[in-house]
Amino acid sequence: MRDIKDLKVLIDRDSLNKRIIELALEINNFYGTEKPLTLICILRGAVMFYTELAKHLKMPVKMEFVTLSSYGNSEKSSGKIKAVNLAIPDLENQNALIVEDIIDTGLTLDFLLKFIKTNCKVRDVKLVVLFNKKCARKFDIEPDFAAFDVDDKFIVGFGLDYNGFYRNLDYVGYFNL
Ligand code: 5GP
Repeated sequence: MRDIKDLKVLIDRDSLNKRIIELALEINNFYGTEKPLTLICILRGAVMFYTELAKHLKMPVKMEFVTLSSYGNSEKSSGKIKAVNLAIPDLENQNALIVEDIIDTGLTLDFLLKFIKTNCKVRDVKLVVLFNKKCARKFDIEPDFAAFDVDDKFIVGFGLDYNGFYRNLDYVGYFNL
């Protein structure tokens, strides 16, 4: 178990907040302010980003949640989707935006996107992520909106956990190996 004292700050609170507001503006410009948008939060990692982003969106927003996991308690993706709670809300004829903390191999989002497109009669579904770990990608998938690109390091805080802890940090950090 690593110690929080060894966590180095990667992105501080002000930079996170500033960038999320910019990203919300981009999303507002893309969708406009009239048509409803269903935001789908992938629990638990996206929760901080999701609530922060939602506050700055100007269209009528519905807030929905799903639970997916591919990491377990490790710092590497298990390569399998675990702990799936796919009580997907009714998305028929709706514009949906999946909100995720980080895209790494792409497994999680590839799985959810295919599931929604196949089963939900959604009008349109797009992806927004707080972090894009491009160098780790194994699936052919890119987010439509992304706040930050990150290197292939294990990051923690602002929703992202280490062994279930540190999701509550208001900044994002990493452990030196
Ligand atoms: P993927 O399915 O794209 O490989 O991984 C996505 C999920 O893995 C994320 O939702 C997140 O839970 C976890 N993950 C990927 N990279 C990191 C990381 O650097 N830190 C933490 N805490 N979780 C990560």
